Amino acid sequence: ALIITDECINCDVCEPECPNSAIYEGEEIYEIDPNLCTECVGHYDEPQCQQVCPVDCIPHDPNHVETNDQLQEKYERIIAAS
Ligand code: SF4
Ligand code: SF4
Repeated sequence: ALIITDECINCDVCEPECPNSAIYEGEEIYEIDPNLCTECVGHYDEPQCQQVCPVDCIPHDPNHVETNDQLQEKYERIIAAS
């Protein structure tokens, strides 16, 4: 999963771009639910939030490192549950 750092300026550009609705407005900054972020695997070649963020504050989350296979499985779980 990716994570939004405290450099976030709350511009709200990323939230509507997420195909998994993983991004939400947190207490201080926008946040990503790691259970829903597939790093856009299953939907796009590149993480859409990273593409649009004007301050480049959405790196990989070192506490949620996942392989492509794991991300693909997460994608399939989300689709099956929706
Ligand atoms: Fe959503 Fe993709 Fe960003 Fe993850 S990488 S939060 S799935 S837009
Ligand atoms: Fe924050 Fe970047 Fe999302 Fe804007 S696009 S709300 S700065 S994470």
